[in-house]
Amino acid sequence: FKINMEELKLLEELGKGQYGTVQKVYHKPTNVTMAMKETRLELDQSKLNSILMELDVLHKSQSPYIVEFYGAFFIETCVYYCMEYMDAGSLDKLYQIGVPEDVLSMITLSMVRGLKFLKDELSIIHRDVKPTNVLINSQGQVKLCDFGVSGQLVQSLAKTHIGCQSYMAPERISQGQMYTVQSDVWSLGLSILETAEGSYPYPPEKYNSVFAQLSAIVGSPPPALPDTYSEDARAFVALCLLKDAKDRPTYAALLEHPFLTKYDESEVDVKGWAVKAMEARLVREEEAKNGKGPAPPS
Ligand code: ATP
Ligand code: MG
Repeated sequence: FKINMEELKLLEELGKGQYGTVQKVYHKPTNVTMAMKETRLELDQSKLNSILMELDVLHKSQSPYIVEFYGAFFIETCVYYCMEYMDAGSLDKLYQIGVPEDVLSMITLSMVRGLKFLKDELSIIHRDVKPTNVLINSQGQVKLCDFGVSGQLVQSLAKTHIGCQSYMAPERISQGQMYTVQSDVWSLGLSILETAEGSYPYPPEKYNSVFAQLSAIVGSPPPALPDTYSEDARAFVALCLLKDAKDRPTYAALLEHPFLTKYDESEVDVKGWAVKAMEARLVREEEAKNGKGPAPPS
């Protein structure tokens, strides 16, 4: 079926990114709460139509590790992308309470499975792996969103500048190399490190400019988990963050790594953690709104 604006009731804003806004919406005909991402694009009708066509492949295959796609439409030059609403929110808003290693392992497992699904089933590279694109719900499910399904859309967005938190692999910065699966593996490693540590591994405060920050990503040894984490966790992150892209493991190899195999999936309480993290997030957001306490870190 097709979704259009008239059928949607706009609820609250869920967040803002570089390219647009995400809103919680209610789809009246189906009684489904969705997340709708609005992206403004300066494109002509034929290009917009080709984006809609490219997004259509998402109707054909689904995975428990990928945020479900409900449909897209455009109004003038804005694309509206409707997807599954994930009530706990993105990982960057949840890791503040700390992430026990078994939960970290399960989050990583879902991410690797999601990335492998995209590659094997849809032949796509994610291109934007980072904590804001890892969504969690109160059932404890972990799913990826904002992957590069549409070549046309990727191309239209690529012209925009990069933000101050770069998850780009060293080879992409220094040689502007084409995006490969290995670049996603780097971004995965950096995202896990950020989730474990509770902050982005190349903090902008530490560098005087974006140039200095990017130079560090290219020129310095990669960041690593401290020794408060297990040997397995540290080894896993180190493999993802190998500076030479061709040395980084494949998804199949990562899935065999002890960091991902040593826990019994049915025993790890991701749901309990997600609910606690979500409550803490709501308290922080409420306090920020009322002007009490520090604003939540972005
Ligand atoms: P960037 O623009 O650099 O990709 P971003 O991922 O934070 O950054 P958006 O993709 O526009 O930007 O998303 C904004 C915020 O909306 C996200 O950080 C996330 O917290 C929230 N969000 C996005 N999609 C959903 C969803 N399906 N369910 C719940 N929250 C969502
Ligand atoms: Mg996003």
